[in-house]
Amino acid sequence: MEKFYCKCCGSSSTSLTGLTSGNCFKNPEGKHHALYEGSEKSQYACKYCGSKASTLTALTSGNCFKNPNGKNHSPAL
Ligand SMILES: [Zn+2]
Ligand SMILES: [Zn+2]
Repeated sequence: MEKFYCKCCGSSSTSLTGLTSGNCFKNPEGKHHALYEGSEKSQYACKYCGSKASTLTALTSGNCFKNPNGKNHSPAL
């Protein structure tokens, strides 16, 4: 089954409404999870600094010094 992931914290849900109705503590633009619109990958890279991690959760939990919108890495699509 397809899963929907939050691009800010890596949380996942089996439905889009389930994802976007949940509270996100890492979204700098709002209080709910924001959909990651890329595909599932074996490695995710930060679009600002290029750091890599094997899961969105791991990537978004790392501090990014080049992200102008927040303090954590943000996945490239
Ligand atoms: Zn989130
Ligand atoms: Zn980064």
